[in-house]
Amino acid sequence: MSFTSETKKELTQVESKICCKRAELSALVRMNGTIHLKPRHLVMDMVTENPSTARYMFTLVKSIYHLQPEVLVQRKVRLKKNNVYLVRVTERAQEILADLQILRPNTWERIEGISPALFVDPCCKRAYLRGAFLACGSVNSPDSASYHLEVISTYYQHSLALCELMNEFQLHAKLIERKKGYVVYIKEGDKIGEFLNVIGAHPSLLHFENIRILKDMRNSVNRLVNCETANLNKTILAAMRQKENIELIEREMGLDELPDRLREIAEARLQYPEVNLTELGQLLPKPVSKSAVNHRLRKLDEIAQQLKEE
Ligand SMILES: [Zn+2]
Repeated sequence: MSFTSETKKELTQVESKICCKRAELSALVRMNGTIHLKPRHLVMDMVTENPSTARYMFTLVKSIYHLQPEVLVQRKVRLKKNNVYLVRVTERAQEILADLQILRPNTWERIEGISPALFVDPCCKRAYLRGAFLACGSVNSPDSASYHLEVISTYYQHSLALCELMNEFQLHAKLIERKKGYVVYIKEGDKIGEFLNVIGAHPSLLHFENIRILKDMRNSVNRLVNCETANLNKTILAAMRQKENIELIEREMGLDELPDRLREIAEARLQYPEVNLTELGQLLPKPVSKSAVNHRLRKLDEIAQQLKEE
């Protein structure tokens, strides 16, 4: 199951207050709903491919309005697509749409954006976001290459209101127009974690945060290790080359033939192949600076080079 489906399944198990249920259902109906006009009355359908969301919409309608919606399943076996679930309300649809602040009372006029009347208490704002995510949201698994959470909506006014609502919780949400509609999205890992917290997806939040923290830690450890290994390799390789050259000089002409300052450093290098140049300078009978060590070792390299060429 994808991380999105898991999160949605979890959200449908959140116990919410009656005020919150209405806000949540309003988002679900606005984003997943369609209205049909039958000869004598209005029919309200809510469509989803997610069976737990369908069950949830059914129980929301039942517990708020005390009526039993119909549930229809369209199987799409041949297209290898998911089933489509349809939760249909045939009674009192117009009244319910008005109560959910989607239609103005006794009219066919749609209310744009998100009506403040839905927010009885601050808790209802979280509930609205939960409904919106359930209806049209998705979130990348924390394992994937980039962090991304989005909620797609058809109408600009509504997307804008949704984006503003998210930003009331400091979620750094942004809005962009795409082919599929208006997309409200969050790109920062810590803000996605906060969004999951706001909408009450606590187990998903824990899973998300665990992976995110591990990933961030691994990245910074890797950076550190790579950087140190690179420096270390350079030092070791240089020391190996120096040691080889000194051994060549010893074999071909003997270290005693060298001037004292070069002989001393050659002997010290053979004795302490692993120390860095500063330390090597300190180990000489008369300690010298790193740059003096460097200069002398370069001289030895040159001599070895000459011997190789002869
Ligand atoms: Zn509430």
